[in-house]
Amino acid sequence: MTKSFDVAVIGAGPGGYVAAIRCAQLGLNTVCIDEWKNEQGVASLGGTCLNVGCIPSKALLESSENYARAAHKFIDHGINLEGLSMDVPVMITRKNKIVKAFTGGIAMLFKKNKVTSLHGSGTLLKQEQESGLWKIQVKNGTEIEEIQAEYVIIATGSTPRQLPFIKVDNDRILDNSGALALTEIPKRLGVIGAGVIGLEMGSVWRRLGSEVTVLEAQPNFLMAADEQIAKEAQKTFTRELGLVIQTGVKIKSIQVEEQQIVVDYADAKVDSQKLEIDKLIVAVGRSPNTAGLGADEIGLKTNERGYIEVDEYCRSNLPKVYAVGDVVRGPMLAHKASEEGVAVAEMIASAKQGHANESAKVNLDIIPWVIYTSPEIAWVGKTEQELKSAGIAYRAGQFPFMANGRARALGETSGFVKVLADADTDRILGIHMIGPYVSEMIAEAVVAMEFAASSEDVARIIHAHPSLSEVLHEAALAVDKRAIHI
Ligand SMILES: Cc1cc2nc3c(=O)[nH]c(=O)nc-3n(C[C@H](O)[C@H](O)[C@H](O)COP(=O)(O)OP(=O)(O)OC[C@H]3O[C@@H](n4cnc5c(N)ncnc54)[C@H](O)[C@@H]3O)c2cc1C
Repeated sequence: MTKSFDVAVIGAGPGGYVAAIRCAQLGLNTVCIDEWKNEQGVASLGGTCLNVGCIPSKALLESSENYARAAHKFIDHGINLEGLSMDVPVMITRKNKIVKAFTGGIAMLFKKNKVTSLHGSGTLLKQEQESGLWKIQVKNGTEIEEIQAEYVIIATGSTPRQLPFIKVDNDRILDNSGALALTEIPKRLGVIGAGVIGLEMGSVWRRLGSEVTVLEAQPNFLMAADEQIAKEAQKTFTRELGLVIQTGVKIKSIQVEEQQIVVDYADAKVDSQKLEIDKLIVAVGRSPNTAGLGADEIGLKTNERGYIEVDEYCRSNLPKVYAVGDVVRGPMLAHKASEEGVAVAEMIASAKQGHANESAKVNLDIIPWVIYTSPEIAWVGKTEQELKSAGIAYRAGQFPFMANGRARALGETSGFVKVLADADTDRILGIHMIGPYVSEMIAEAVVAMEFAASSEDVARIIHAHPSLSEVLHEAALAVDKRAIHI
């Protein structure tokens, strides 16, 4: 007999697995279908984020940052290390252990919450006219099973975007999976794309000693970030970390020779330049993944860039079919995917009880962005350039980590925090940070913005001393030109 569920979730990344758990918590009989297999060919839940994204990249960033501290910064503390060396295979094994623990953890969470987990590729077949149930095929090798569900949540994520003239082999031409699995430090590493993934991966291998050149097509560095932050980041990454960053680049060809890879490119000044490297990371963005889903056959609407079209409630054009995460509009971030998963689960549970749930949607305007470089970069809300082009009058307050006691004690004094507040109402419109542990500090900024705080609200909150959070406090005070310690 065909197994029948209230909800079928296709994809077990942070969008899908979180949606499935929340559905189950709300009493819905839920199945989650996922096709991911790890390098050993074993099913591994957690999608891109847990297998080859957020978690393994942070593990390698931490290892390489520890190495860089030991090599360059411990000496200031009076700690002398002789014969320091890096064992890359041990670092990779540690990363793999973390990934295994987390992906295995999802399987345990599914068990605990009574989510049925099916391994295989899920294809939407059709909606039965009479019952209104969706039929879904689950294909695992030669095994094919059909299940049915009243509601479907598509969370099939994204895949690395490819360059038309070079094929990723994850040996010398790497995407994120390959960049996270190198077992030797490449002497010369090229990175195409100075986005979050390119910068994080470039940082890992630069800290361990590679000569790293980053080629970016956009005319300026980190164009999604606040301009002032981007300038500070470019300066620090170039001068302190030693990354070579070239913007406004047009790649003409990539030759994979026996001894090296040669990238021929042009920039605004020079028409033909050559970059000779041993490995190349291609990090030119990610494309929404609807392969094998049966989108065309069932009439699921996608836009010209391949994203599944959804409204503010993540509803697709098909009845009772939702889509969340990287496969729909909005930032390709794990926490955005998860929150959409929760919102959709709550909406389905309400609908099953016969009422609408209009609050079950994600506020795409208040999503924290973090880049885990050193120094870290984090922001929420509008940038100065966005406010200027929208003609919104604002006041800005800024405070440097250099003037903060905790940052001094850490020996991490690069960067600053900037608060942007509406000139009339003082409501915070954006907060931008570059500096130590701003990935953690940004949470306060998000809370403030969610609660529609003014800069004065943050200025009046007591912040622990000495702490990095005082930099945000002082930046809020600086909006009204009353920062104390500068
Ligand atoms: C190197 C790297 C670092 C990153 N770091 C961060 C970070 O620090 N913070 C952050 O917020 N984001 C980060 N991201 C982005 C983050 O990984 C994604 O935004 C997030 O994984 C999206 O979640 P998702 O659930 O939409 O999709 P995914 O995580 O891509 O999961 C989709 C799942 O669906 C499965 N699937 C696809 N099609 C089918 C099908 N037809 N049937 C069954 N299963 C299917 C896939 O195999 C996969 O398991 C990073 C990404 C990369 C590559």
